Amino acid sequence: MGNGIVKFIRFICECVLELIYAGDNKCIICDKDTYNDSCICDICSKKIKFCIESMSIVRDSMSIITYSAAYYSGIIKELIVGLKYKNDFKCGELLAQYMEDVLKGANFHYDLIVYVPSSRTSLKKRGYNQCRHLAKIIARNQNKPVYNCLKKTMETKDQIGLDGASRWENMIGVFKVVNKNIIKNKKILLIDDVITTGATAFYCAKELTDCGAHEVRVLTAAKSKI
Ligand SMILES: [Zn+2]
Repeated sequence: MGNGIVKFIRFICECVLELIYAGDNKCIICDKDTYNDSCICDICSKKIKFCIESMSIVRDSMSIITYSAAYYSGIIKELIVGLKYKNDFKCGELLAQYMEDVLKGANFHYDLIVYVPSSRTSLKKRGYNQCRHLAKIIARNQNKPVYNCLKKTMETKDQIGLDGASRWENMIGVFKVVNKNIIKNKKILLIDDVITTGATAFYCAKELTDCGAHEVRVLTAAKSKI
């Protein structure tokens, strides 16, 4: 049986268990009772360093506005690792909620959501694209359409371990738009999990803009330093 199918079955089992134990709210970080409706307790959520300011990536005479829910450390890091490597989709729900909170203050009226694509290899390995998962939750809650509009056309070196300049070089020409008609003259919210140098987000946004999008802004769960 394929890795993806096994992960999907595990996900369904987790959903069933969640239904059985609904109301028994344990914190997904410390495992103590939350005493609230959330899946994180007040003590853990107070430790999160949320981002307030938006950021602009300026390059090649383009400027892309980015929003991040929080800084990549401590609990946010645990949530992202949970979503990315441990198939913990509850972490995704919580991260998406934090991302939507940032969006409330952004005053960006967009038409549709697009997400950063995975390479074939990581999709095969992980069984799902964590950015697509976040995008789907946000789209559902915000009542916006989400489209698979970008394709990663080549395998790249892992950005982890590369310096700033190499990270930019590593992403040139990597992303291609697969359906131009959908994005034409549209305002797009691009979803990524973590932004570091901004190279991935920038080249995705640039490709979307070059292919006719009116405006692209980026929303990530976390902001990290190299
Ligand atoms: Zn806790």
